[in-house]
Amino acid sequence: MAATILVVEDEPGIQEVLKFNLGSHGHDVLVAADAEQALGLLRGALPDLILLDWMLPGMSGLEFARRLRAEPRLKNIPIIMLTARTDERDKVLGLETGADDYITKPFSPRELMARIKAVLRRRAPQMTEDPVEIAGLRLDPVSHRVFGDGKPIDLGPTEFRLLHFLMTHPERVYTRSQLLDHVWGDHVFVEERTVDVHIRRLRSALEPTGHNRLIQTVRGSGYRLSAT
Ligand code: CA
Repeated sequence: MAATILVVEDEPGIQEVLKFNLGSHGHDVLVAADAEQALGLLRGALPDLILLDWMLPGMSGLEFARRLRAEPRLKNIPIIMLTARTDERDKVLGLETGADDYITKPFSPRELMARIKAVLRRRAPQMTEDPVEIAGLRLDPVSHRVFGDGKPIDLGPTEFRLLHFLMTHPERVYTRSQLLDHVWGDHVFVEERTVDVHIRRLRSALEPTGHNRLIQTVRGSGYRLSAT
């Protein structure tokens, strides 16, 4: 499970440790030393998860988390807060603000990895390698293969990611802009009609087994994967 992780941490030593550990587990790491820098990075591609230090110069980690949760485009990014504090009240405050989990420094790399994995599994199931199956359509992230009623289906890499995202978030409508953020990881440099192009390709690949009917257009909103 390789994710793009944004580390917001001002201490160079801890930045290095995190970069090394996350990188050696196959994750792509972006580093910001404060909230301002992090917001700059977030104007481009969205990370799959944010590791956020509580004590930052300028805007605190807590304020930053609040700010993320208030912005529709950013509010669904999972957050794990890092802190030296062990105070129970702060922990509760952090979780109430919308952090998904909480790690107290010093932490072991093993614990950190386990928590990242747990949060991604819960919040971003398309990041995990669990196979998904809906109405006879089966997608296996490990072998990177898709089967419709047992027959192999050939998909391009973008169609594969798009289908994986939709299958792990069924029965929900996503706008083109949301799909760009989740599947392309980028909101800014890709045109929204690109989504339509790949939806069209996906549907035509699924047509031989009739699974194209799972990909529904919701007029005026976007797309939804539904078995009904
Ligand atoms: Ca700090």
